[in-house]
Amino acid sequence: MDCLFCKIVAGEIPSRKVYEDDVVLAFYDIEPKAPVHVLIIPKQHLAGVRDVTPSNSDVVAHVFEVIPTIARELGVTDYRIVTNNGVDAGQTVHHLHFHLLAGRVLGEMG
Ligand code: 5GP
Ligand code: ZN
Repeated sequence: MDCLFCKIVAGEIPSRKVYEDDVVLAFYDIEPKAPVHVLIIPKQHLAGVRDVTPSNSDVVAHVFEVIPTIARELGVTDYRIVTNNGVDAGQTVHHLHFHLLAGRVLGEMG
């Protein structure tokens, strides 16, 4: 599949990994929008929140279960989790991902 994040999961495109298990991969964003900017993705290809269903939502639950561990490893206590769903919302990579932003006082959501 021609998906950038699937290629990162497969190791075909390098990334700076922060955390990995069987279900989830986390790596630094290539264009950080905050001093700490990590992307947390399910290894399974889901195009976005729009693809979440009762039969795969355990993957999303797992993402949120590991976020506190990832935050601890990054040394941050205060952080924002953002997911863009659809082009008008700013989604540019159509593989479900959660931005973890931290390291500065984050402004209001726009
Ligand atoms: P979106 O705009 O879809 O919510 O987020 C996609 C994110 O992926 C952007 O923040 C962008 O900087 C990041 N990104 C795009 N290409 C790459 C890449 O090749 N490697 C990494 N690590 N991040 C990428
Ligand atoms: Zn993908």
